[in-house]
Amino acid sequence: MSWIDTHTHIYLPEFADDVETVIRHAQDAEVGKMYLPNVDQSTLDDMMQLCERYPNTLYPMAGLHPCSVKSDWQEALSHIQSVYEANKASFIAIGEIGIDLYWDKSTLAIQEAALHQQIQWALTENLPIVIHVREAFDETFAVVDQYREVQGVFHCFTGSIEQAEWITSRGMYLGIGGVSTFKNGGMDSVLPYVDKSRVIVETDAPYLAPVPHRGKRNEPAYIPIIGQRLASLWNMDINEVMTLTTTNAQKLFRHG
Ligand SMILES: [Zn+2]
Repeated sequence: MSWIDTHTHIYLPEFADDVETVIRHAQDAEVGKMYLPNVDQSTLDDMMQLCERYPNTLYPMAGLHPCSVKSDWQEALSHIQSVYEANKASFIAIGEIGIDLYWDKSTLAIQEAALHQQIQWALTENLPIVIHVREAFDETFAVVDQYREVQGVFHCFTGSIEQAEWITSRGMYLGIGGVSTFKNGGMDSVLPYVDKSRVIVETDAPYLAPVPHRGKRNEPAYIPIIGQRLASLWNMDINEVMTLTTTNAQKLFRHG
């Protein structure tokens, strides 16, 4: 058993010079598998090429990130879908998809339309979804709620106990990352009370590095820091947290 970093963008330019070292450091830290969410058309090729170099270690997702949903989103999405069709067996999820109203509120309507379309795609393909939400919990819940049968994770979960309950009570998962280690992150008053059988871990590298690396480039090797944080909040041994979160991730992504 080893850790799974369920959300990492190590195909981005931040890792262009040393991605081999980054992956070796992850493996040294017992992070055996890494799941790579797509952002948009511009990231697909780099993501696919990296995954091809590391079969059984790196696994790609297909999707259009809400911040990349612009007026041409339908063309962008059909391009992503054509790459998906050509490499179907490789993909483990549709992601990342969702609604982000922090950067741009004017695109809400097309973000909702893109989310609907990508959830329907996930259902057709029988794949889980990886959801990005920022300042748009209610809007996102309203869409996801229309698809009772969809499985997925709210990645980088930093919400309230009530929001965590909404997610876990309908069988979906909470992706917990570096924010759980921030003093001002507010997660120490939430995480002790969530359904542990619905928690998976992620870095969201290169973003949101955990303390003591906060503000620097994040990387998958920092997953045990997040595991240790959960172990202290839950009064568990870190190896139990590894077994639990890896088993949870394998269930969600139907992937051993
Ligand atoms: Zn991400």
